[in-house]
Amino acid sequence: MYAAVAVPVPVRRLFTYLVPTGLAAGLAAGVRVRVPFAGRTLEGTVVEWPSEAPEEGVEIKSVAALVRSIPPLSASMLELTRFVADYYLCSWGEAIAAAMPAPLPGRTRTMVRRLAAADPAQLSPRATARRGLLERLGRAGGALPLEELAPSSRKIARALAALGWVELVEEELAAAGPAVEPAPLPPPAPGPTPTPAQAQVLEQLLPALAAGEYAPHLLFGATGSGKTEVYLRAAAETLERGRSVLYLVPEIGLTPLLIAKISARFPGRTELLHSGLPRRRRWEAWSRVRNGERRLVLGTRSAIFAPLDDLGLIVVDEEQDGSYKQAETPRYNGRDLAVVRARSEGAVVLFGSATPSMETFRHASLGRYTLLRLGGRIEQRPLPDVEIVDMRDEYRAGGEVTAVSRRLRERLDECLGRGEQALILRNRRGWASALLCPECGERVLCELCSVAMTWHRADERLRCHYCAAEHPRPECCPACGEGPLRELGEGTERVEDTLRRDFPDATIERMDRDSTRRKGAHARLLRRFAGGEIDVIVGTQMIAKGHDFPRVTLVGVISADQSLGLPDFRAAERTFQLLTQVAGRAGRGELPGRVVVQAFDPEHAVLELAARQDYEAFFDREIRYRAALRYPPIAALVRIVVHDPDEGRVAEWAELVAAALREEAQGKLIVSGPGPAPVERIRGRYRRHVLVRSAGRRRLVEAVDAAVAGLGRRVPRSALQVDVDPLSVL
Ligand SMILES: [Zn+2]
Ligand SMILES: [Zn+2]
Repeated sequence: MYAAVAVPVPVRRLFTYLVPTGLAAGLAAGVRVRVPFAGRTLEGTVVEWPSEAPEEGVEIKSVAALVRSIPPLSASMLELTRFVADYYLCSWGEAIAAAMPAPLPGRTRTMVRRLAAADPAQLSPRATARRGLLERLGRAGGALPLEELAPSSRKIARALAALGWVELVEEELAAAGPAVEPAPLPPPAPGPTPTPAQAQVLEQLLPALAAGEYAPHLLFGATGSGKTEVYLRAAAETLERGRSVLYLVPEIGLTPLLIAKISARFPGRTELLHSGLPRRRRWEAWSRVRNGERRLVLGTRSAIFAPLDDLGLIVVDEEQDGSYKQAETPRYNGRDLAVVRARSEGAVVLFGSATPSMETFRHASLGRYTLLRLGGRIEQRPLPDVEIVDMRDEYRAGGEVTAVSRRLRERLDECLGRGEQALILRNRRGWASALLCPECGERVLCELCSVAMTWHRADERLRCHYCAAEHPRPECCPACGEGPLRELGEGTERVEDTLRRDFPDATIERMDRDSTRRKGAHARLLRRFAGGEIDVIVGTQMIAKGHDFPRVTLVGVISADQSLGLPDFRAAERTFQLLTQVAGRAGRGELPGRVVVQAFDPEHAVLELAARQDYEAFFDREIRYRAALRYPPIAALVRIVVHDPDEGRVAEWAELVAAALREEAQGKLIVSGPGPAPVERIRGRYRRHVLVRSAGRRRLVEAVDAAVAGLGRRVPRSALQVDVDPLSVL
C-alpha cells in the first residue's frame, strides 16, 4: 500500500512512498514519518492514506519509520496547513514545518519483524540458524529489536530481510511521560467592572460568542480605551462555554504585564506559545495544548497553529502589526490565517486596534466584519495636545543645528520640573544614519548591499542594517580618499547624547535593538522606568508598543515625516500608525498628556491627521490613493523578487518571470515590471521584482502558481521569492 507524504522541501508536490506491512497498522493521515529523500532521511507527514499507486516504472522507496513521539496532526490542522501551501505558494511540507515546533531529537531503534508469509517450514532443512531466528521472532510476538540480537543473528536477520522473509523497520521510542491526572483548576478571577463603553461593546459581542459560529469583529478604539478588558471578558465567556481561546499578540517580549494579567485571571488555563521558547519547553507547552490540558493560548504569529480543539475565539491584538507576517517561507500572515481558521472551526474573531490596517478597516466599512467602536479613553481622559514643530524654522533660526527643537526642549524641561516622565521616539538606531564625503558627496555604502552604513558611536562600528556587515570607521572617503567624513542624520544614540548634555540632572536611557540585545535588558529597562528610576527613554518604535506608564506626560517625535518618503505604498499607513501609537503613550494616567512632533514638512496631511488622531479621515484619504493606484486593499498583490549574485542573470531571469506572468495573465491581471527593487542589492545579491495585481485574489494566486511552475528549470526556484500579500515592496 502507498502513502502520499508532504516533505519539507521547496517543491510544490507530494511524494508517494511504499508502506511496509509492519507499519501499516499505525498509519493515518497526519502521522509523522521518516522517509528517504534524495540521499537523506527527512521527516514528513502522511497526508493521504491509503493513496493511489504511482505510475508504472517510477522507483518507489519505503517509509523508513513512524515517528511516535509526535502526535498526529489533526484534520483541521491538515486543512489549515494545506491552505497555507496553496495560498502562500509553498509546499505543504514547508507549511507543516512552520506549524509545528522544531522536532526534538528522538531515540530510535530498528525492529526485526517477521512477515506474515514467512513460514519456517518452507526453509531448507539445513538453514537451522535462519529457521531458529524465525521461530524466535514468532515466540516474541513477531518482532524483536535488532540490537537485542547477537552479532551473528543480526547478520542472519539482514539475509532474511533480503530474501523477503522479515523486514527491518525503524521505530521511534515513544517519549516517556506518565499521564498525570490534572488537578482541579481554581475558578477564573473576576475582572474589574466594565466601563459603560466596554459594556456596550460586550452586549454586541457576547451573543456572537453564544451562537458559536464564525463571526469576525473589529474592536476599534483609541489607545487606552480599554480593549484588553473586552478581550478578557470575551475569553472568559468562551472558556465558560467549554470552548478554547487563542490570543495573539505581535511580540511576546513586549507584553510582560499582559502575561501576568492573563495568568492571574485564568489560573492554570493559560499556555504561552512563541518561537522564542527553548526547544524542549516549546514542545512541552505544545503538548499540554494538544492534550487539552490548557485551553487558552497566548502567543505570537506561529501560535495561529496552536493545536487547540473546539476553538471558540481568536483575539488578534494590534492586528495592523507587521510582526504577524512571516518574512521567510511560508510568508503567511497570522492575522489573515485567523480568519481562515475561525471560519473552518466556527469561531469568533476579534481584531483589535486603534489604527487598523487598511485591509481590516475596509472589511469593517463594507460590513464584512462587525465594527465595534470603543469610544473615548478610560475614565474620559482627553486625548493629548499635539504640537507640530517646523524643523525648517529651527535650522533657519541658525545657531547650533540640533536634533531636538527649542519647543521640545521647553516641554521636556516643564515635564521633568513637575517630576513626570517622557518618551522620545526616533525610529532609527545608531549615531549617524550615514557618513558623507564632503569632497565627492558619496556616502559610505555597504559592500554587499546598496544602502548607506550606519555609524554606531557607542561601540565604534560602522554597520549595515540589512546584512551583518560591520567594520571600523574609515579615516577618509573610500571613493576619493578625501576626508574627514561628515556625519549625516541623527539616530537614537545621538538624540540620547544631546538630551544628556541638555538635561544633565535627568536620568536618560535608550531603548532600541542595540541597547536591549542582552537577555532581560528590555524588561529591566521597562521595570526601571515604571519604578521611576528613569526620567526619559529615547528609542525606536519599540517604545510605541503596548506600555502603560501613568507618569508619562510628554512624547516627542524626532523626524516624524522621514518614513513618509520611503518608496513603498504603505509608507503613509505605517507613519500614521506609528505616530498615533506613540502619541497614545502620553497621558494615560490622571495627568494630561502632550506630544511634540518635529517634521520638515509639517503641513503633510498624514501628520495633521495623526496629530488629531483621526483614523477615519486618514482611512478615507488613503483608500482613495490605493484605489487610484490599484494597490491593496483595493486589489490583491503578489510580489516576485528575483535575486542572485550575478546582475546579468537576475535581469535575464526577471524578464522570463515577467513574460511567464503576462502570458498566464491573459490581460486580466496587472503585471508591473520587471524593475530593480528599491533596495537593489542585499547581501551581495542583486534584486529585481515584478508586481502582479488583480481584483480577484484566488485567480491571482493561481496564475502566479502556474507561471512559476511553467518556468520549470529556466529559473532556479532558489532565486525566486514569491510573496503573496506582501507588507513591504522595498
Ligand atoms: Zn569622497
Ligand atoms: Zn549590507
